[in-house]
Amino acid sequence: MDARSLRELELLELAGLYGFAQAPAAAASAPPAQTASAAPMAREPAIAPPPNTAPIALPADWDGLRARVRDCTRCGLCRQRKQAVFGVGAERGPWLFVGEGPGAEEDEQGEPFVGQSGKLLDNMLAAIGLRRGRDAYIANVVKCRPPGNRTPTLEEAAACAPYLDAQLDLIQPRLVVALGKVAAQRLLNTEASLASLRGKVHQYRGYPVVATYHPSYLLRTLPEKAKAWEDLLFARAKMLEFATARPHDRGAP
Ligand code: URA
Ligand code: SF4
Repeated sequence: MDARSLRELELLELAGLYGFAQAPAAAASAPPAQTASAAPMAREPAIAPPPNTAPIALPADWDGLRARVRDCTRCGLCRQRKQAVFGVGAERGPWLFVGEGPGAEEDEQGEPFVGQSGKLLDNMLAAIGLRRGRDAYIANVVKCRPPGNRTPTLEEAAACAPYLDAQLDLIQPRLVVALGKVAAQRLLNTEASLASLRGKVHQYRGYPVVATYHPSYLLRTLPEKAKAWEDLLFARAKMLEFATARPHDRGAP
């Protein structure tokens, strides 16, 4: 079966799930030879169901939370993902880096920031002595890839927010670094420019947040790398300050 048919079959199932079609039953009852030809008849619902932004109770453990994200259908981004990209890294912080949403490579591999921008992010981390997995957790505002890498909508981000919030509460990072305008705006609930958000400590649910450029943006706009370096130094200085102020709050030995 070709990729298009497969994709459309996935849509078909989802259309059924949302009550827009009785597709799964129809597909199941079709003889195997006709399944492929029946698939192209599937249609994405003309009006996608709105993202579900209602509060949800979530498990307060990593495995439980991971399972909920894996199976999540709270917003339409679930329809075209290969897999949800949960997050990866140091589950007890102290750093949390938050990007916008998975790209093609991340959707494929199930890990955030593994493409070109991921290499730059790892270099940015290394520049201030950090390593993915050892010192920093890496996650995104939305866990599923927006088609064509479009910006996730406010509603999609709101639908996905409980997962990031649960991750935050498990990690309890000393400092959150928002990567790029979209992550910063979604976390800080503002439309302010990234330029105006840089160089300050903001708060999100009681956690300190700093903002810097997104690695993908830096790949396209090399002169801004110097500013990103300033941001990283600022973040590192704040981290040291917070660590001195609250040295034992994570139960460290
Ligand atoms: N860009 C992001 O914002 N997140 C990723 O995981 C990859 C690219
Ligand atoms: Fe669920 Fe978030 Fe994926 Fe939307 S982006 S389907 S809310 S995990």
